Amino acid sequence: MTTSMSYEAGARIEGGIPLCVPEIRGNEWQYVRECLDTGWVSSVGSYVTKFEEALAARAGTKHAIATVNGTAALHIALLCAGVEAGDEVLVSTMTFIAPANAIRYANAHPVFIDCEPDFWEMDPAAVARFLEHECTFDGTTVTDTATGRRVKAIVPVDVLGHPVDLDPLRALAARYHLKVVEDATESLGALYKGAPCGGASDAACFSFNGNKLITTGGGGMIVTNDDAIAKRARYLTTQAKDDPIEYVHGAVGYNYRLTNVQGAIGCAQMELLDAYIEAKRANAARYTELLAGVPGITPMPEAPWARSTFWLYTILVDEAAFGRSSRELLQILGERKIQARPIWQPMHRSPAHRGERAFGGDVADRLCRDALSLPSSVGLTAPQLEAVVATIRSAARA
Ligand SMILES: *Cc1c(COP(=O)(O)O)cnc(C)c1O
Repeated sequence: MTTSMSYEAGARIEGGIPLCVPEIRGNEWQYVRECLDTGWVSSVGSYVTKFEEALAARAGTKHAIATVNGTAALHIALLCAGVEAGDEVLVSTMTFIAPANAIRYANAHPVFIDCEPDFWEMDPAAVARFLEHECTFDGTTVTDTATGRRVKAIVPVDVLGHPVDLDPLRALAARYHLKVVEDATESLGALYKGAPCGGASDAACFSFNGNKLITTGGGGMIVTNDDAIAKRARYLTTQAKDDPIEYVHGAVGYNYRLTNVQGAIGCAQMELLDAYIEAKRANAARYTELLAGVPGITPMPEAPWARSTFWLYTILVDEAAFGRSSRELLQILGERKIQARPIWQPMHRSPAHRGERAFGGDVADRLCRDALSLPSSVGLTAPQLEAVVATIRSAARA
């Protein structure tokens, strides 16, 4: 394994092709300079507000609350959705670990739901089966029969820039009185049935980590149309201060506020979001075109009802048909300094969440075995992309 290679967000490899690095080419310098020149560097300032407004406009929501990172956004969104200690929350098993951790920060328990095989998103049919067969519903509260715990919310993740099939999940949430907290951290700007990801859930979260579609170095956002959730989120992310003069705090809050310097970077990044999405989609189309006909390689799918951002372009490697496993291909790419990456270990396999409940089949396990994310930076050049494809082609042993 290429263990020496760094997979840190935005890491570059000298002379190689990185997985996904930030694209800084807009007004970042100008806006940050303005923060430094005026002294508005910390957690109040016009750029945080402007950044929030830009995100609300983009998601089509009434409110947006900036946070220090996407994981913090998820933590607060769960608390605001009414998740309490001892509750259960249904979450995609195929995800980066952050939403599962956020559920645990709220002292609740995740139930890891398998994905569907077509687009690798949380399977609404599995959620329906779980609620119907594993739980009881008394008209207000869903209770997991096996654990006796109250089920409070669903956290679908829009995996790799592709939206989850949200309508059936929202229908289930309405029927069973559950909240939907969407993890849209990888899918800023993606469309579900023509509508922006994140706008149709009770609350949704974005991330501006270094390897995300746009970055503020680190940062996050909660978007919602719910006035009460928005108010509570703003309160909890700023230390739950009731009286700013006398320092009276009505709850145990969090210091989760984004700084104005980060907001300034975010404002500049948002101005180029559409250009970045176009670049990602063009790269994805080119990968799909050039990889067509390579035996055993499945290009990244896009549902007819979706407009994906193709945040990380990810292929499936069928070992029998390709002649090598995904991990062997990873090794070969690594030797050429091409930074690829397997998809995440499914959460029901994670030592960090041992003992938590899981439901569904083995789709996530198979994805974990076969999937490989390829270099997907906004600034990926045509020769770089062609070099990646040529390496994959030459590695085939079919
Ligand atoms: C990146 C990411 C997050 C949040 O990440 P932060 O680094 O905390 O901003 C949450 N969920 C998923 C699925 C992610 O990919």
